Amino acid sequence: MGKAVLDFVLDLLYPRRCPVCEGILGRNQGRICVSCKEHLPYIHEPLCKKCGKQLAKEEQEYCADCEKTDHLFTCGRAIFLYEKDLRRSVQRMKFQNHREYLDFYAEEMARAGEKYLLAWKPKAILPVPMNRRKRRERGFDQSVLLARKLRDLTGIPLDEKSLIRIRYTMPQKELTAKERKSNLKDAFLLDPDCKIQEPVLLVDDIYTTGSTMDAISRELREHGIREIYFLVLCAGRS
Ligand SMILES: [Zn+2]
Ligand SMILES: [Zn+2]
Repeated sequence: MGKAVLDFVLDLLYPRRCPVCEGILGRNQGRICVSCKEHLPYIHEPLCKKCGKQLAKEEQEYCADCEKTDHLFTCGRAIFLYEKDLRRSVQRMKFQNHREYLDFYAEEMARAGEKYLLAWKPKAILPVPMNRRKRRERGFDQSVLLARKLRDLTGIPLDEKSLIRIRYTMPQKELTAKERKSNLKDAFLLDPDCKIQEPVLLVDDIYTTGSTMDAISRELREHGIREIYFLVLCAGRS
């Protein structure tokens, strides 16, 4: 069977679907359908100067969380609001093994995040490490896959070995802010022999309170790394 015929048959058997609405994509469509493309929930100004969350009022400089927290990272940005269809999409990616969505996610992070990357000039991408038990359950690690694709799209070197998660931690979403902090204490370890250069760019799918980014930043700072940025796919509103 010729390749064109094979592709045609595969399309009939396993049609490509829009990662946002799950609608079937025509052969000549891009990674998402036309109507989802028009309504993607990009985070827009005003943004929290620190964590990049979308703010309700122009007069604010920081979100409520960054107002009261001395975050240990330099700053970070997210591409999409973690709401509605996009939230459901991320949940399908994680819990129903739709890792094919990650191509779309990474392309959006590279394209819409380009202005940040040009300003920050990171010398290394570090994926936020997932604990091993979780990775076994899920079968893949979305932050590593996102980071690899981002490396391919931007040319920024990737280091997926030096930063590891050493403790099994409770799922953060079940904890209060205070519990989140102690839950993550000493959860991350940076290889003392690694040759990571700053600025570094942490990559993950979701940003919530920043306790994970702070726990990693604490470990990086102990090794003299102080310029710490993050780029994530999505974040909630302030
Ligand atoms: Zn769609
Ligand atoms: Zn903030």
